Amino acid sequence: MKNKSLLTILAFLVLNISTTQAQEFSRAVMPYVSIQESVVAITNVKLIDGTGAPIRNNQTIIFTGENITAMGNSNEVSIPEGAKTIDGTGKTVIPGLVMLHEHIFYPKPFDGVFSVAQMTFTFPRLYLAGGVTTIRTAGSIEPQTDINIRKSIEAGRMLGPKMDLTGPFIERAGTPVPEVGVIESSQQGVEMVNYWSDRGINSFKVYQNITKEDLTQVVAAAHAKGKKVTGHICSVTYQEAAEIGIDNIEHGFFQSSDFVDDKVDNFCPAFKRGQALGELDLNSPKMKALMDLLIEKNVTITSTLPVFEPYTDREVVLGGGIDAMSPEIKESLIAGHTRRQGRDEASLAQFKKQMAWEKMFYEAGGKLAAGTDPTGAGRTVAGYANQRVVELFIEAGFTLVEAIKISSLNGAEYLERDAEVGSLVVGKKADLVLINGDLEADVANIRKMEIVFKNGVGFDSQKIFESMKGKVGMH
Ligand SMILES: [Zn+2]
Repeated sequence: MKNKSLLTILAFLVLNISTTQAQEFSRAVMPYVSIQESVVAITNVKLIDGTGAPIRNNQTIIFTGENITAMGNSNEVSIPEGAKTIDGTGKTVIPGLVMLHEHIFYPKPFDGVFSVAQMTFTFPRLYLAGGVTTIRTAGSIEPQTDINIRKSIEAGRMLGPKMDLTGPFIERAGTPVPEVGVIESSQQGVEMVNYWSDRGINSFKVYQNITKEDLTQVVAAAHAKGKKVTGHICSVTYQEAAEIGIDNIEHGFFQSSDFVDDKVDNFCPAFKRGQALGELDLNSPKMKALMDLLIEKNVTITSTLPVFEPYTDREVVLGGGIDAMSPEIKESLIAGHTRRQGRDEASLAQFKKQMAWEKMFYEAGGKLAAGTDPTGAGRTVAGYANQRVVELFIEAGFTLVEAIKISSLNGAEYLERDAEVGSLVVGKKADLVLINGDLEADVANIRKMEIVFKNGVGFDSQKIFESMKGKVGMH
């Protein structure tokens, strides 16, 4: 009798543990879940762990529930009985990507006005399909929608990555994007920080026409809440922002107004900025001094190469996403792309120079993170563009190990989530991507993602991509 009740208790405990571990998914999500076993072993796989360590072959990685529980050479790691085993021969495992300049919106220009529209349904799931298990939204047009999306994903009702949410853009008048609100005083910027912080927003982003005083007050208010501030800046130079205490600057060095000789305080010299960057020598001591200051002030730079990618001999939608577009948008993107062929030699030279500056910053010890910015000309689409980021880092001269680390651990460190995600280490969350190919042999194999694991649950990447075809721009 005594033994029987003990057994009952044990059975109850076991059942209870297994039910609390397995996340439940809605009927909308379930068809895309391909692996949901409590113990999973991927064997004989090529491993890039995200820490910057050399690539290792013939590795086995085991995860139990949400966490990685064992890793090592396949002949040394024993596979627990009952584990779901996946043969990784000829395949590659990388950490789930952590990208910092993502948005849940897409451009919809009209009458010559740059406008954007929320992509509630397509973008979160495309990020996941593209191997991105954590995003920062880097500026929002519908913060309340973004908060609800995150709740739905966490509850298993929607497909998507872990989300670090950024508040609405903090901007003064001057940017003619109808979805971007404007503040009329620094105090209004502070009010935005306080209001959205209290509703679960994780960080803030200032925009192109703010003043130094705005930035000073916004940074102070955000830091008082334990939150960070990034910026797509212009009216304030990189140097001024670093000295004020900004945590992060977006778009590599593409937006730097530091080199405009007669720059007026708190004013964005949009045209002169491009001209000055164009004329600036690749090895300019002034650029070197700016990089040294950013490093000294611990400012992270987010690279967003896809949004600047030239047209000639490059894809219409970067990363191979043209079929994801709704028919009308697809047509207009192809027409625009055809029209622009052969017309971007100057921008190609700039693109290459910017790549070199990002690499220089990284080599000097600067903190470089990655993102896509799915706006611009509409060629940058969630998921596809995130894969393209890794390819572009290779084009920029980074090693594959560096490209992966910048796209995973560096972002996680900035978000202060690196205790849980960003690299593949025993004890961290099983956020990882199984690629059906040898990524070392050809970086383009990044497009052959097979299973994207988030908290140990495997999602069918190709099936998600397939399900979103023809929908981007509409939903
Ligand atoms: Zn952006």
